[in-house]
Amino acid sequence: MSKVSTANFLTKQSKIMMKKGAFSSLFSFTIPQLIHGLIMLDFLIIGGGIAGVSAAARLSTHGVTLVLEAEEHLAYHTSGRSAALYETNYGSPSTIALAKAGRSDFDKTLSDVLSPRGFLLLCLKGEENQFDYDVKHMHLTEIPLMEAVSLVPILNATEVVRTASSSTAHDIDTDMMLQIFAKQLSKNGGTIKTNQKVTAIEKTKHGWRVHVKTGTFETRQLVNAAGAWGDEIAEMAGIPKIGLTPFRRSVARLNAPGGHDVKNWPVLFGPGERWYAKPDAGGLIVSLAEETPSPPMDAWPHDIDLAEALARYQDYVTEEVTRPVSSWAGLRTFSPDRNLVLGPAPQDNSFIWCVGQGGYGFFTAPAASRFVADLVIGNTPEYPTEVIAELSPDRFKS
Ligand SMILES: Cc1cc2nc3c(=O)[nH]c(=O)nc-3n(C[C@H](O)[C@H](O)[C@H](O)COP(=O)(O)OP(=O)(O)OC[C@H]3O[C@@H](n4cnc5c(N)ncnc54)[C@H](O)[C@@H]3O)c2cc1C
Repeated sequence: MSKVSTANFLTKQSKIMMKKGAFSSLFSFTIPQLIHGLIMLDFLIIGGGIAGVSAAARLSTHGVTLVLEAEEHLAYHTSGRSAALYETNYGSPSTIALAKAGRSDFDKTLSDVLSPRGFLLLCLKGEENQFDYDVKHMHLTEIPLMEAVSLVPILNATEVVRTASSSTAHDIDTDMMLQIFAKQLSKNGGTIKTNQKVTAIEKTKHGWRVHVKTGTFETRQLVNAAGAWGDEIAEMAGIPKIGLTPFRRSVARLNAPGGHDVKNWPVLFGPGERWYAKPDAGGLIVSLAEETPSPPMDAWPHDIDLAEALARYQDYVTEEVTRPVSSWAGLRTFSPDRNLVLGPAPQDNSFIWCVGQGGYGFFTAPAASRFVADLVIGNTPEYPTEVIAELSPDRFKS
């Protein structure tokens, strides 16, 4: 990438931003500045998953924005491997607060992204304590066993003893969601560049110099949305790491059991999330819901996890498990306290964390991206102070 090409691809957004008056309102200059012959970006986002693209879309209304993604296409890693479930009663209080705050986006700009799915918790003999705990904490309603069997005819009514349901769970069309944010970014003149792995980051007088194999970018603010690689990016920038842990989770896809039409079945959960099964593309995806620590990597499923998932699922249903038609694994990356990490680093407020999405990255993205953008432009997000504190990178400052 040459200096000239960087200037060219930014011309469009620079013009849009100047027309909108964004520079004059936010920053102390009125035209984009050139640093060493390169246009100064306002926001450079590392990571082309749902976290990075949604944050970029929000920030692109406030300045010149670029997303760098290491892989050939967006959502190659965790964002391409999700179970695509929206459930507002799942996760820590701050996760639930983000999920609820994002509901209005799902009702408006993301209106076709969600479709009703339903949720059914199943209990075998001996699992009653965990079942009662889940019913309480996930705000489920216990329903008669035969009502559950009428929803999912393959339930094993001699083994399953109790069932509980809720109607809050929805499917997320994750591709559509990513594309909507990418289009918003593009409409605001922002840019996504794939095949651009960030290899080094330097602190400069004006912000950050970010190196990829073929060139260099200058930016005022650097947003770290690198998922499992979040701590590696911090290390490159000389910012203390959070202590993120990527956890592997695998998924097996089965053809529709017994040839049933599964499209209106709810997602099925074992108590304590010991396994789950969800209708998907005419079949069922089944997961052990395992959390196996892993280095950041292109994750793959381990046969033993797939086998255990299918064995657990089998205990609750009458149809014999068939050979999986495909399988995959992804990394769900958590901070030490399992809350997301959103906002400026306490050591340098031009380094913005947008990591720790764990198993909630899609349904939290609409609100999490707005939360990040609010903090970057100096607004206080509209959440209770304890939620802001639970999400703040300051909590890891030693
Ligand atoms: C099996 C499974 C089930 C899940 N189910 C759900 C669910 O039902 N609902 C839900 O909301 N969430 C779910 N999730 C979680 C959700 O998928 C994640 O929280 C979300 O995708 C994380 O997005 P991200 O953008 O942070 O990470 P990623 O999608 O991994 O994006 C990070 C990107 O950063 C890039 N990157 C890293 N280093 C560099 C570098 N040096 N230079 C440039 N780019 C770099 C990577 O290539 C990667 O593409 C699930 C996850 C898994 C694995």
